[in-house]
Parts: sequence; C-alpha cells; structure tokens
Amino acid sequence: MRHHIETLPTVAFLLALGGCVAAPSGEAPASSFEGAETEAAAQAVPPATEPRDPSRTWVVLLGTGTPGAEPDRFGPATAVVAGGTAYLIDAGPGVVRRAAAGAIVSGLPALRPQNLRMAFFTHLHSDHTIGYPDLILSPWVLGRSVPLQVFGPPGLDAMTTALLDAYREDIRVRVEGPEQLRRDLLAVETREIEPGLIYEDPVMRVEAFAVPHGTWNQAFGFKLTTADRTIVISGDTGPFDGLVDIASGADVLIHEAYGAEGLRLRDPGVQRYHGTFHTSAIKVGEIAAEAGVGMVILTHQLHLAGETPDEMVDQVRLSFDGEVVYGRDLDIF
Ligand SMILES: [Zn+2]
Ligand SMILES: [Zn+2]
Repeated sequence: MRHHIETLPTVAFLLALGGCVAAPSGEAPASSFEGAETEAAAQAVPPATEPRDPSRTWVVLLGTGTPGAEPDRFGPATAVVAGGTAYLIDAGPGVVRRAAAGAIVSGLPALRPQNLRMAFFTHLHSDHTIGYPDLILSPWVLGRSVPLQVFGPPGLDAMTTALLDAYREDIRVRVEGPEQLRRDLLAVETREIEPGLIYEDPVMRVEAFAVPHGTWNQAFGFKLTTADRTIVISGDTGPFDGLVDIASGADVLIHEAYGAEGLRLRDPGVQRYHGTFHTSAIKVGEIAAEAGVGMVILTHQLHLAGETPDEMVDQVRLSFDGEVVYGRDLDIF
C-alpha cells in the first residue's frame, strides 16, 4: 500500500504493490538540518570506533529496551546494515536519534537519518512502534529522497494512514512554509506480511515467521540472510520451540529474554503474562543450543527481580556453550 501525502488530509492514496520491492540506490542529499555529528552529539554517544567495513554485514543494536523507560536503553530497534542499506527491525522510542548515534559509532553512513528507508515491524506493540512517526517524518525533514518502505503485521496500513493524518498540519507547514519541503518525497510504502519470504534485493533476503506473543494475533520474527551472515531476530515471543528449526545453523540469534529466577518470585498474574508473552534466558539457551547458532545476543531484557546482566548470561549458558552477549544500545557485531 502506498501512502502518499499529496492526497492527505482527505484519505491516503492506496496503491497495491506487486512483487518484491527493489531497493532504490543512492544516498539522500544533505539537508540544511544536517548537523547530528556535532560536538554535543559526540558527547552524548560513545566515541566513534574504527569504521566498519561496508562490504560486510553488521548488526547495530539501536535500542535494547522495553516499555520500561530506562534512561540508558532506548526503545526496541535493531539495524542490520548490508550493501549500504540499514534494514531496521522495529522502531521504538528514539530510533532516529539512535540511528544517528549508530552512524557515528560505526562509521556506517547507511545509519544516518536521511538514509533510513527500510523497516520491518515484528508486531505493533507500542514500545516497538512509537518511533514510527519519527521514522516517517524526521528523515524527510532531514533530506530523505526516496520512499520509506515498511513491512509489518496486519494493522500496519491503518496505523500508517492514521499517523500521516495526525501530522497533516505539520506536513502542510513544512511544505507550504519557508522550509518548502517536497510533499512528493514524503511517501510511505507499506506491506502487510504473512510468514514466508517477504523481501529480497541483491544483498538481502528477509523471511518472516510467526511467533507466539501472548494474546497478539500476529507477531513475527525475522531471518535475514546476506552473502556473509544469517541473522535471526526473535522479536517479542513466548517460549517458541519452532525457532530451533528456523535458526538452525544461523550465525547470530538475537533473542528477547527475561531473568528466569525473577519470574518465580512474582505473583501469578505477572507469571502468566511473562510466561506467555516472553521467554526466559534459560529457554533462550536451550533453543540456541538445539539450533546450533554461532552466537546469542540478548535484547529487550526484562529484569523481573533485579538479576544482573551476568546472571542472565549465565542462565543462557546453562545449555549453550557458544558466545553469549548481553546486548546494550549501540553495540556493534
Ligand atoms: Zn516489546
Ligand atoms: Zn511485544
């Protein structure tokens, strides 16, 4: 579905997309708002490390948080960067600023805000989508010159239309006022997905699989395959043994987790919620071991009884003897 702002505020013009969407090439031009890499910004993020080889596939954790408003963990968002494109998985609070920080830390230009043009939503929980209007609008203001392509569960089209409608006055002012932004460059192409191959271009292949996330009717994880890496992202999920086959032999498993010991100390309601919506670190280790993945990165960590990061990593290691990392914002793998 193509959401084109020219037709707002009446109703978004809807154009069904056929076939897989080819990735447009070229980077967006700089805008007058550019300036993320200022001294002030540099102080707010870890210092730049050595620039990463752009010919390889990189994972950059943009936000490892949960609905909990922890100051040092932004909302759920992971970038897989390959072939000069950042493929974003989810867009939690602060996603565009976190991408700007990621560009500085990694040296990968694909993460600059004006270059963000691909996103995949695991599900529509607010902690994973509050950054969606940010992703639609901020890169446009900063000079993005191609449509934003977005994939996600049913409900994505309606959410997109509603967001563009909600910001129609902001858009009008930026287009008709002194900024003179181009309305035609604010285009969002959405596709509501089902399990299976959902996207392919010359460097990236993305497959979606359904996961059990409590009472959500539609929640997904993603398997991203490039020439040099296979990366499986669980999304938010309850214990899901099907992941053993899906992640079999993957180089990287990025999995959500809660501290297993803590859940036992909580009341039955909390146990019921987390037991069906999320996965314990112990279970993550069992899945990783059976799947034989290369490494495990924990994200969306829930500390139900104040478990330390080391304790959660140790719970994974009860079954899995490969590399286990407690993911933190702006980690690069
Ligand atoms: Zn979540
Ligand atoms: Zn969720």
